[in-house]
Amino acid sequence: MFINGVWIQEGSRGTFPVTNPSNGTVVRKVADGGREEANAAIAAAAKAFPDWAAQTAHKRSALLYQAYQVLISRKDQLAELLTLEQGKPLRAATTEVQYAADFLLWFAEEAKRIYGETIPSARPDQRFLVRHEPVGVVAAVTPWNYPISMVTRKLGPALAAGCTVVLKPAEATPLCAIEMVKIFEEVGLPAGVVNLVTGSDPKPIGEEFVTNPLVRKLTFTGSTPVGKMLAGKAAGNMKRVSCELGGHAPFIVCQDADPVHAAKGLQLVKFLNTGQACISPNRIFVHESMVEAFKNTLVERVSKMKAGNGLEQGVSIGPLVNDAAVAKVDAQVQDAIAKGAEIVCGGERLTANGLDRGHFYAPTVLNAIKPAMTIYREETFGPVAAIVPYGDDDDVLAMANDTNYGLAAYVYTQNLSRAMRLYEGLNFGIIGINDINPSGASAPFGGMKNSGIGREGAREGISEYLETKLGGFSI
Ligand code: NAP
Repeated sequence: MFINGVWIQEGSRGTFPVTNPSNGTVVRKVADGGREEANAAIAAAAKAFPDWAAQTAHKRSALLYQAYQVLISRKDQLAELLTLEQGKPLRAATTEVQYAADFLLWFAEEAKRIYGETIPSARPDQRFLVRHEPVGVVAAVTPWNYPISMVTRKLGPALAAGCTVVLKPAEATPLCAIEMVKIFEEVGLPAGVVNLVTGSDPKPIGEEFVTNPLVRKLTFTGSTPVGKMLAGKAAGNMKRVSCELGGHAPFIVCQDADPVHAAKGLQLVKFLNTGQACISPNRIFVHESMVEAFKNTLVERVSKMKAGNGLEQGVSIGPLVNDAAVAKVDAQVQDAIAKGAEIVCGGERLTANGLDRGHFYAPTVLNAIKPAMTIYREETFGPVAAIVPYGDDDDVLAMANDTNYGLAAYVYTQNLSRAMRLYEGLNFGIIGINDINPSGASAPFGGMKNSGIGREGAREGISEYLETKLGGFSI
């Protein structure tokens, strides 16, 4: 933990182990903190806030830029650590570290663009001025599936805006967060500006975050139930909240699409991070005229995927986070099969060649998915491609929107009018049109409905950390 510029190796609850999900070995032990550390970290952040907020935007920008440079210089080292604690293949880990760095660079630039406004008044003797000020102490909670980029996507804009921060990373993946905080320390962020509380039990830390009056904003990325619970409590204390929550993305392959191209895209995005991504396609609507062609290409590509330790050459798919995740994925697959789904490939836990020491599930393709199946409604967060054949454009739009989630959606079509109709008609925050990676530091990321509140990245990302102050001047 890192509180008020001091590293703490052992917390009030001692330490807890961080394990490698591909083989169960302990990577490192980390300080186990609770409510008292969260409280101390918030106090440190509150003390540091006035001076940090008073720094010039240029100064904050320069520090963020330096942090960006150091992160880039340690890309390989951090990618390896990321693979060790999270399991994703090294190449994907390297891409994530770059993505994490992109947010530091973007918000180093945005720090200097927090513009105010002058507004004409109806009264001749009056002038209106608007300025934007940092909200204050930010409590940030991040998940394990993207252990470093979710940290910079929050800390980049918060620090750029002039806020101070207390970060709680996921229990499963605190190591990259620790390394990121070390970088902020190295480049000279003053004590108390960034604080880190690690812990094996998130509840007391979360409770302190949402009840302590010194916290002015909660930014949370994780599951919808936890996000709703924390947002509810934060609302009771009138704190600002942004939430990036779960998803249930539709992936629509229209009758005019190239089924081979679409299947390649689906394979890449569906099995990315072993399906453990909030923007992972969960319902794959394929026009009935091309189900066979789509399925064949998909299976051909999926059968070449090699599961294993992400540090090994040739491994293209890593483990799930833990055994509970394996059990959840398998339960969804068994439920679908019992209700009539066709199993095209996979559908079982992988145990051969030492994989039983980790949490591996075979990349799976199911066809003939129906609304009554659990997978049609619940986020899978695992390597299962669930194909739903459809016949009509209007039907598919209604089916795609028939979910409580609203994060990402994908469309494959070569018809411009159809692309525009679906882009406008889909009730999701992020729409990829023939595009499996509709994200980047410059683009607003976030969801509608149960997928959350607010946007990260982009011009909008920094406004989540700013208050608006009006000045009315009578002259
Ligand atoms: P999670 O169980 O909700 O955990 C997320 C974070 O919240 C972790 O740091 C966790 O700590 C913490 N947490 C859990 N209970 C808490 C409590 N009572 N008080 C305070 N903090 C608490 O979610 P997850 O399984 O890590 O992440 C997967 C979910 O995140 C999926 O639903 C995915 O779609 C979503 N996600 C969304 C986005 C997005 O941008 N929309 C991005 C990535 C992931 P512990 O780890 O210590 O339990």
